[in-house]
Amino acid sequence: MANEGQWRRCSACKKPIALGSMYWTCNVSTCNRKRTGLVFCTVSCWEVHLPGANHREAWAVEQTAPLSSGEETRPVSREQRKGGQRRIVRTESSGKAAPEIPSEVLIVASRLKEYIRARSGFNTSDRVLSPLSDIVRRVCDEAIKNATREGRMTVLDRDLPAE
Ligand SMILES: [Zn+2]
Ligand SMILES: [Zn+2]
Repeated sequence: MANEGQWRRCSACKKPIALGSMYWTCNVSTCNRKRTGLVFCTVSCWEVHLPGANHREAWAVEQTAPLSSGEETRPVSREQRKGGQRRIVRTESSGKAAPEIPSEVLIVASRLKEYIRARSGFNTSDRVLSPLSDIVRRVCDEAIKNATREGRMTVLDRDLPAE
């Protein structure tokens, strides 16, 4: 290891997190999957990932990095140890409730109907719009995960799952 004493890097600001030091994780399980494994050096760095993550309710959980880099020891979570744990619950700066994830139609009906008519001469039922929007949402959720995995807060075209 080039950097003695360093455990990992902060997922937001990329600053090193030292072995044995305090760091923060997100309480949401998708942020703690093996392949995602977001770690943050401060609570404000944890806040950085929130806009892209769309958590219903999220808080930062204080953790302690392992003392040696030799073994891939799982850091001891203060949550598991009970007591001494600090939870920072996300507070909306504006004081309003967390934004609901919209479930409305994402498809421009007239454009879709135009497309289907041009392609086939067929008509299109309005009932197509809602399930089709669900498909778009699922694809977007995948793309958000891919962007998060790379520590990005902008969804790029390459984040969209391959067909
Ligand atoms: Zn940081
Ligand atoms: Zn999270």
